[in-house]
Amino acid sequence: MRLSRYFMPILKENPKEAEIVSHRLMLRAGMIRQQSQGIYSWLPLGKRVLDKVNRIIREEQDRSGAIELLMPTLQSAELWQESGRYDDYGKEMLRIKDRQERPLLYGPTNEEMITDIFRSYIKSYKNLPLNLYHIQLKFRDEIRPRFGTMRSREFLMKDAYSFDLTQQDAIHSYNKMFVAYLRTFARLGLRAIPMRADTGPIGGNHSHEFIILAETGESEVFSHKDFVNFEIPSEDTNFDDVAGLQAIFDKWTSVYAATSEMHDAAAFDAIPESDRLSARGIEVGHIFYFGTKYSEPMGAKVQGPDGKEHPVHMGSYGIGPTRLVPAIIEASHDENGIIWPASVAPFDVVVINMKPGDETCDRLSENLYAGLGKAGKDVLYDDTDDRAGTKFATADLIGVPVQVIIGPRSAANGEVEVKDRKTGAREVMTLEAAMNRLAG
Ligand code: ATP
Ligand code: MG
Repeated sequence: MRLSRYFMPILKENPKEAEIVSHRLMLRAGMIRQQSQGIYSWLPLGKRVLDKVNRIIREEQDRSGAIELLMPTLQSAELWQESGRYDDYGKEMLRIKDRQERPLLYGPTNEEMITDIFRSYIKSYKNLPLNLYHIQLKFRDEIRPRFGTMRSREFLMKDAYSFDLTQQDAIHSYNKMFVAYLRTFARLGLRAIPMRADTGPIGGNHSHEFIILAETGESEVFSHKDFVNFEIPSEDTNFDDVAGLQAIFDKWTSVYAATSEMHDAAAFDAIPESDRLSARGIEVGHIFYFGTKYSEPMGAKVQGPDGKEHPVHMGSYGIGPTRLVPAIIEASHDENGIIWPASVAPFDVVVINMKPGDETCDRLSENLYAGLGKAGKDVLYDDTDDRAGTKFATADLIGVPVQVIIGPRSAANGEVEVKDRKTGAREVMTLEAAMNRLAG
C-alpha cells in the first residue's frame, strides 16, 4: 500500500475525549471514528488489525472443532419470549418495530437463535457434539459506553455455542473452548488469565472470564503469580483427548484467580505474600456452561442411546474482537505510539522513502516494496513528501514492527537502515540483505 494513496487520517493533537492510552492512540492513528455515542466506524488501518485478530480467533475456533456460520443482527422478539428473556433483559436491549409493527431486537447475544437453529435440524445424539460460532455485531445499550471500542454499544463478538447429550460431554466441550482461548490470546501476544466467574443460579465451577492485566482495566482482579509461567497448549493439542484437555484445565485452574465478584479474601490471603497479584484487568473473553437453561424451555431435545428424548446441555463462549484491539494496545505501546505484536500488525513492514523524487531512493524503495509484496508481506510504502520528522513519528505511532528507512546517503551505497519498532535497534545493511531478512 502506497501511503500517498491510502486513507489513514493521522491526528496531530491528542483527542481530548480519550481518557486511556489505547483510545487516544486508536484515534490518533486513524483506526476508528465515533459515529454516535458508543458506535464506531473502523477505518482502513483499524480494519486491518481487526481482520487479523478475527483470523486468529477463527483459526483457533476451527482447530478446536467449532464450525462457523453467520446469524443476523436483528432478531424476532418471539424467540426471546420463548426463553423468557425478552422481559428480563432490560434496557440494554435495543427494541425495534418493523413496518408491520412486529417487534424486533438488535441481538445482544444469540443463545435463543442458535437454540432455534439447533432444534430445527438436530434430533439425535449421533449428531453430537456440535459447536457453532459466528463473528457478528452485537448491540447493548450500555449505560456508560467509554474508552472507545473497549466498551462500546455496538461491538463485534465471536460467540460460540456448544451442544451435548450429557453434562459430562458438555464439560469436554467447555474444556475445548478453554484451551482454544488460551491459544488464541497467546497468539495475539497477550497473557490472559482465566478467572472463575459467577455462574448464577446454575452453580458449579464452569464459568471463566479471561482477563488481561492492565492498569486501565475495569475489573479488580486477584491471582497467584504462577500464571505467568504456565505453558500455553501447543498447536497439535488433540481436542478429542478428554483426559488430556481436562488435565490442561485442571492445571490452569489449580491456582487462585478471581475477579472482585468472586473474590475469596481468605483463600487469597493463604497465598504467600510475594506470590499474590492484585491488579486491574480487562475481560476479553467469557465462557459459560449453562446446562439446559435454554434447551428446556425452547424444546431443543435429542434422542439418546436409551431411545428417550433429552434436553441438550449447552454452553456459550464469547470473545470481543473490537475490545481486544484496544486491549492489545494497552498491553503494548510506548510514549511514541503503538507496538503491534507481529501476528496482528496492520502491516509487516513500513518502507520509508526519505526523499521521493531522488532517483536512487525511489529505485531502492520501489524494489523493496515490490519484492516484499511478492514474498507475501503486507507492506506500507511511505512515498509521501512529508518531512523526515513526520514520517518517523507516523511510523512509530502506527506501530508497524519493522521500519526500513531509505535515505539518499546510504542509498547511494545500495544500503538501507532497518529499525525494530519495539527495541528501537537500527542496523544498516544492503538492500539485498534487508530483502532476505524481511521476506522470510
Ligand atoms: P462486561 O462485563 O465487560 O460488560 P459482559 O460480561 O457483559 O462484559 P459477555 O456477555 O461475557 O460480556 O460478552 C463476551 C465478550 O464480549 C466479553 O468478554 C467482551 O470481550 C465482549 N464485550 C462485551 N461487552 C462489550 C462491550 N460493551 N464493548 C466491547 N466488547 C464487549
Ligand atoms: Mg462476561
